Amino acid sequence: MRPEILFPLFAPVTSLPGIGPRTGKQIEALAGPLVVDLLWHLPREIVDRRYSPKITEAVEGRVATLTVTVEAHDPPPDRRRPYRVRCRDDSGFLHLIFFHAKPEYLEKILPKGSIRVVSGRIERFREEIQMPHPDHIVSPEEADSIRRVEPVYPMTAGLSPKTLVKAITAAIGQAPDLDDWLDPAFRSRRRWPSWREALLSAHAPDDEAALSPSAIARERLAYDELLANQLALALLRARHRGLPGREIAGDDRLRAKVRAALPFELTASQETALAEIFGDMADSGRMLRLLQGDVGSGKTVVALLAMLNAVECGGQAALMAPTEILARQHYATIGPLAQAAGVRIAVLTGRDKPADRKATLAGLADGSIELAVGTHALFQEPVKFADLALAVIDEQHRFGVHQRLDLAAKGKGVDMLVMTATPIPRSLMLTAYGDLDSSQLREKPAGRKPVDTRIVPLNRLDEVVGAVARALDGGAGIYWVCPLVSESESLDLAAAEERYTALSARFGDRVALIHGRMKTAEKEAAMARFSKGDARLLVATTVIEVGIDVADAAIMVVEHAERFGLAQLHQLRGRVGRGERKSTCLLLYGQPLGETARARLAIMRETDDGFRIAEEDLRLRGAGEMLGVRQSGMPEFRLADIAAHGELMAVARDDAKLILDRGLKGPRGEALRTLLYLFERDAAAVTLRSG
Ligand code: ADP
Ligand code: MG
Repeated sequence: MRPEILFPLFAPVTSLPGIGPRTGKQIEALAGPLVVDLLWHLPREIVDRRYSPKITEAVEGRVATLTVTVEAHDPPPDRRRPYRVRCRDDSGFLHLIFFHAKPEYLEKILPKGSIRVVSGRIERFREEIQMPHPDHIVSPEEADSIRRVEPVYPMTAGLSPKTLVKAITAAIGQAPDLDDWLDPAFRSRRRWPSWREALLSAHAPDDEAALSPSAIARERLAYDELLANQLALALLRARHRGLPGREIAGDDRLRAKVRAALPFELTASQETALAEIFGDMADSGRMLRLLQGDVGSGKTVVALLAMLNAVECGGQAALMAPTEILARQHYATIGPLAQAAGVRIAVLTGRDKPADRKATLAGLADGSIELAVGTHALFQEPVKFADLALAVIDEQHRFGVHQRLDLAAKGKGVDMLVMTATPIPRSLMLTAYGDLDSSQLREKPAGRKPVDTRIVPLNRLDEVVGAVARALDGGAGIYWVCPLVSESESLDLAAAEERYTALSARFGDRVALIHGRMKTAEKEAAMARFSKGDARLLVATTVIEVGIDVADAAIMVVEHAERFGLAQLHQLRGRVGRGERKSTCLLLYGQPLGETARARLAIMRETDDGFRIAEEDLRLRGAGEMLGVRQSGMPEFRLADIAAHGELMAVARDDAKLILDRGLKGPRGEALRTLLYLFERDAAAVTLRSG
């Protein structure tokens, strides 16, 4: 249960004074539905009103707060001209300018002969000093009501800044003093204020510097959020680790056969990864390890050897892929090797022939099938394993391993290996996975040739088609990836179909089309035509991103490359350059190309190190953009900025670890539990209480 002290923060924004249902909706769209969401809505800019010169010394263009005497009203002769109010101090005159003014109102707030404090932007028009539409007009007694430095919040249409500021001020007023969850020594070393002080000061920036992510108040708030994230992940991890595991260390008989059958030597990084995996498996705890490696870095064979280790011990192993195509491709690669070692293997995708499916289910249940490759169908209800010992999950570029721990329920003490082809920057790794064990394949298998990457404006499409024609005559396989038109799958599809029609008109039946809406059989037919060489030009939406492997594909054309993430482009490019041919990647861009987009495409030309590309993408676009946060299952941060607070993330990781090691008893444990609820990590908070 959420602690009572947080109740006021988890009330709807409409519980705040003056916020009705309509304003409530607007605030919800902007910040979120709850009072706490307003706390996290931090100012983006400031208006500094501390500049108070004499009228004649006021610099044009600056915001100034001036004390003046009202001398005369000068109503306009017609509606097109402004209403003017002449004011003065001992240095000279200032004209307040109002378009579409209501004279009665102006006479009321600016009575002739009165002294007024006015604040607004100074302009000069002809020789006259003016202030059009002052932001504030008050009497000298009320001068304190003008904030000397005014925070400016991110806004949404229809909501007035005044209303928003009022709501935020009220929300802050509801923020209780919370017992600090930070270690006191750590906090004083960092010179961080208390949580509530930090909140107040983040909403009351004194100057530009206070808006920076490295300002002390913002750092503290960001750290709190990161700590909640890391602690939640660590708690889930600890729960997984605490589950009984089993010791799996085979006698190498199957692995030796497969190694002997491989037409290549494993790379040093593959060997290292395997040693790490075998070490985890042999341990009595439960393995939960991430295997990271670029497309083509050779993760599949690592997974196979890990699975055989389980089979050598009499257990079963399963490999789950994100799509059916990939599952079948894994099956096609692994199947023959497994069979050569005398291991029985089956594929299960949920779309298999009923008779095959029945046989597979029976074989998995009685243990006669030792290896299974498939989609998530593998982990659905009717599937029973005799003795599942290892689950390998090929995530490609999806995240969210913690949601998948339930898969372990298919067996007793199941070890888990998660493979991902997206090189994830270290800071993001921590956010998504916490302190997860991870192995990396940074080395490329021998014989990989670099891909010649070129950046070409779309208006040179004719030349590109010409180059494609020459390559086709040479017999190379070519991918042509069509633009991502965001959100709408049907638009993506229309673009791909149009391109397909145009290219077919020129190249005839050497062209095939593949997209996400096609039936599996159709997709497979198109893929088969392409990989067998009947079709040589494959027009695709991004479905091919997830791992199609055709060795003699030598050209990758990406239309509107500027609309793709760098990580995606990197994945796409990884589809070529796998065979003997010299390969090319043509990134076609629409004009005009913005500066960031240009920089991003330039990185693609510079390097093919996936880890470096990921770091650059993070730097240039920020985490949310880079991963398409919502779809990826990455946690979204309100206060922390992963690019700016990477160092804090690592500190939070260590802090979380220490907290778990020491146990969570006493007042600090209580405070940490409140922290988890404050950042809506309720599930983890519950674990923490029972633990
Ligand atoms: P990933 O799954 O990491 O994208 P794969 O496992 O599909 O990569 O491997 C890509 C290709 O490289 C496959 O054809 C595979 O047989 C080959 N391969 C894997 N390891 C090696 C190696 N050590 N030396 C040469 N080729 C390798
Ligand atoms: Mg693969």
